[in-house]
Amino acid sequence: MQRPVLVLNASYEPINICAARRALVLVLKGVATAEEEHGSTLHAARVAIPMPSVIRLLEYRRIPHQSRALSRKNILLRDRNTCQYCGIVLPSSELTLDHVVPRSRGGASSWENLVAACHDCNRRKGNMLLHETDMKLTREPRAFTLHTSRHLMRMIGHSDAKWRKYLFY
Ligand SMILES: [Zn+2]
Repeated sequence: MQRPVLVLNASYEPINICAARRALVLVLKGVATAEEEHGSTLHAARVAIPMPSVIRLLEYRRIPHQSRALSRKNILLRDRNTCQYCGIVLPSSELTLDHVVPRSRGGASSWENLVAACHDCNRRKGNMLLHETDMKLTREPRAFTLHTSRHLMRMIGHSDAKWRKYLFY
C-alpha cells in the first residue's frame, strides 16, 4: 500500500506521486480513475480492487508553479529517504528531519534548512553548525518545486514501465 503511484492531471500531465493507499481512496471516491494497473489486486470486503500504478484526476486541477507544501513527507520525498549526511537509505519511520543550522542557533524551518537524517547522524550533529563537525551534506538542500518532483518522477518511473509513456513531455 506504500508503493508509489503516479498521479496525472485530467490533461495527462504528471503532477504528483502518492502512495498506493491514497491512490485507491481517490479512485474509490470517484476523484480519479486508474489509467494503468499494477497487476496485483486488493481483496477487501468481498470485492477485488486492482491496484493502480498510474491514476488520472477526472477534474483538471490548476497546479501552482511555486514550491510544494513544506512537510516532513515532502522533505523525505525530495531527499529520497536518504540521510543527507551519511547516505544511508531508510524507511520514512526511521528517518528524522534535521535542521542544518539548529533551531537553537537561529535556523529556520525551511526547505533550505531541513534535511532527512538518520538517528545516528542527527544525534552526532546535535546542536552544532556543520563547520563545527566533520560532517558534510551530500547535496545542497533546495526547495521542492514541480521541476524537482518531475525529476523524481522520472527516476522512480524508471523502474515502472507503465509510468514511462506519461513522463516524456
Ligand atoms: Zn546518517
